[in-house]
Amino acid sequence: MRVSESGTKANTPGIVFDVVGMDCGDCALSVERVVGKLPEVETAAVSFASGTLRVWPVPGDCEPEALERSIRGAVDRAGYSAVARDAADRVKVAQAKWWTHRTLLPGLAAALLWVAGFVIDLGSDAPIVVTSIFATAIAVGGFTIMRSGWVAIRAGRIDMNVLMSISVVGAAALGEWSEGALVVVLFSVGTALQAVTFDRTRAAIRALFDLTPDEACLVRDDVEIMVAANALNPGDVVRVRPGERLPADAEVIDGRSTVDQAAITGESLPVEREPGDTVFAGTINGAGTLLTRVTAAASESMLANIVHLVEEAQSSKAPSQQMVDRFAAVYTPAVVVSAAVLAVAGGALTGDWNTWVYRALVLLVIACPCALVISTPVSIVSAIGAASRSGVLVKGGAVLEDAARIRTVVFDKTGTLTLGRPKVANVIVRGDVSEKELIATAAAAEQDSEHPIARSIVARALHDEIVFERARFFAAVPGKGVRATFAEHHVVVGSDRLMRESGVCESAMEWVQDIAQQAAGEGQSALSVARIASDGSAELLGAITVADSPRPRVREALEALRRAGVERIVMLTGDRTEVAATVASRIGVDDFRANLLPTEKSDAVRELQRDYGRVAMVGDGINDAPALAVADVGIAMGVGGTDIALESADLALMRDDLSTLARVIGLSQRTVSIIQQNVALSLITKLIALLLGAFGFVNLWIAVLADVGTSIVVTLNGLRLARSRSGDDSVPEPGSTISDSEQRIPVDQAAD
Ligand code: ADP
Ligand code: MG
Repeated sequence: MRVSESGTKANTPGIVFDVVGMDCGDCALSVERVVGKLPEVETAAVSFASGTLRVWPVPGDCEPEALERSIRGAVDRAGYSAVARDAADRVKVAQAKWWTHRTLLPGLAAALLWVAGFVIDLGSDAPIVVTSIFATAIAVGGFTIMRSGWVAIRAGRIDMNVLMSISVVGAAALGEWSEGALVVVLFSVGTALQAVTFDRTRAAIRALFDLTPDEACLVRDDVEIMVAANALNPGDVVRVRPGERLPADAEVIDGRSTVDQAAITGESLPVEREPGDTVFAGTINGAGTLLTRVTAAASESMLANIVHLVEEAQSSKAPSQQMVDRFAAVYTPAVVVSAAVLAVAGGALTGDWNTWVYRALVLLVIACPCALVISTPVSIVSAIGAASRSGVLVKGGAVLEDAARIRTVVFDKTGTLTLGRPKVANVIVRGDVSEKELIATAAAAEQDSEHPIARSIVARALHDEIVFERARFFAAVPGKGVRATFAEHHVVVGSDRLMRESGVCESAMEWVQDIAQQAAGEGQSALSVARIASDGSAELLGAITVADSPRPRVREALEALRRAGVERIVMLTGDRTEVAATVASRIGVDDFRANLLPTEKSDAVRELQRDYGRVAMVGDGINDAPALAVADVGIAMGVGGTDIALESADLALMRDDLSTLARVIGLSQRTVSIIQQNVALSLITKLIALLLGAFGFVNLWIAVLADVGTSIVVTLNGLRLARSRSGDDSVPEPGSTISDSEQRIPVDQAAD
């Protein structure tokens, strides 16, 4: 897990507010300071990127409403507005209408006044009238800016509002009323536009997740009552009618239907659901009615988890952003100091104070690092939003930056490159048992194991209607097999390693080798079944071969990865070398490592990192969590149902579809290049403005226009990522291409 801005107290969620109107990352810090200084508040953390304020109140009995009121007041004075979320962490803020942005109307009013002043100035000779019109424009448009600036100063910070206020007041003091008014107009309108764009993007991303219905149909004693979806508790029985959204994570107890799980997996092809299956809050019920039993409260649903992860991800800072922030922290004070020096030195040397103070004011405007500071977060937020829409969870900007540079990708074999749903192919007996007895013994030992091989054996036994005992004791041996204890003996099922460890003799192992060799030619894996008597003697009962098939279109998915710049694809497996070789050549990977225990998989990843640098590891998270953790980018796939893998990976493919991988890498690469463009653009405009400004070639309003204009350009550039589906569409998405684009809420509409 990457450290987030709110990293200090990540364990408790605190109270979450959505903040509207934040246009500048630097100014967001002023909000954090001001709220943090409230006596009721212990810590406050603002994330500019996700537009949230998290507050941890001082422990003790503080009236929640009073607390909320004083926090909202403080945020309001700083120039923004905050709305607290409800208990289920749902966003309550009705998207503020864009024209209500607090600097927009005053800015436009000031603009009208400025035009009036300008026209009167052209047509008549009434300097007092003109000056008072400009002064009114400054007062009307500048009030909110100066108030926010004052809040920042009291919090001990010099932010954009402070710099602008000084230059406006300074311009007026120099008698440049018209220019002061123009600065106010450009700054107010520009920042309003930028804040509105950013707010809409954030809202569109939230709207993707704000999918649970308000009410649910609770069934109690055969009576249906409508209750708030937030109030559902685990165990409640809920009826879901055709076409409705599911109100909670639940298990189907009656009825059959198809469910559109796009909200969770990004896959709009509906899946069949019947009694015993899991369904998720926010997904859409198809044509049947479902009776479900709630398994998680609203705040703990899969969807809530995802929202939480996405927000954390948006708040965590990517390396490039940290670099930019560090630069900005030095840049602004340095330019402010140079401005002061310029004014004093220039004025004293030439005696022409007006000119040099004016130049210093221009420098103050140029000192504002806004476009630079906003350039990275806006790109990251949009990219993470775009990824979430196609069912990919990215745990932060740092992951995107790493993923863009990946040249080596390592795959786990079972369940990742292959379907992970093996079928028993052959049953070969050796000892004094029948085929049925062998299956019964193996199934009895495997019935509690989660491993796909175990499931295939149990499935075979059930299919053939073979009865099997219950084991008294069962233990999985990761990467090797299982051990089970029965009344008078033990049974081990699994790899050669496990057999040798259990004392199976070498001649029996040679017999297994022959079978395994043959099976491997067909891409099948062989495992052995042995019985261990109470005196410790081991008898090999026979072998079972299982066949797992490669995922459909896995070759195309790997090809797409290569087109995205991946140079080396390696397969890791606990299976034997011969099987690995067959599968590797069928699927088209460059290299493989076989016979690996789960811990050895992480060693293999380390070795590859040593040889080739950055390595991404793709696994299903079942027994490859250590390797996922070691890799530079750990990618868990098909986690639509489990949150364990969600936690250990940097990047999670919610849907079982390898083709999304190339797209995410493509998206990361585009994100990195857009960040580079943005940073370069902001730096170059600043540099030019600085040079020209120092020699007096730039006047105040041009400096403001350059600043605000660059911020807007940078924001729009970053937003291009949000509008794209995640990337390279050269790999057709199986079956979902038609309906998918229709299903999605386009960014600009979702905000309304
Ligand atoms: P993979 O790397 O392909 O995911 P694992 O590490 O899960 O494979 O397992 C490696 C090998 O251990 C398997 O090929 C199999 O021979 C054996 N094995 C693991 N678990 C079991 C089990 N429950 N039953 C039988 N064999 C098992
Ligand atoms: Mg596996």
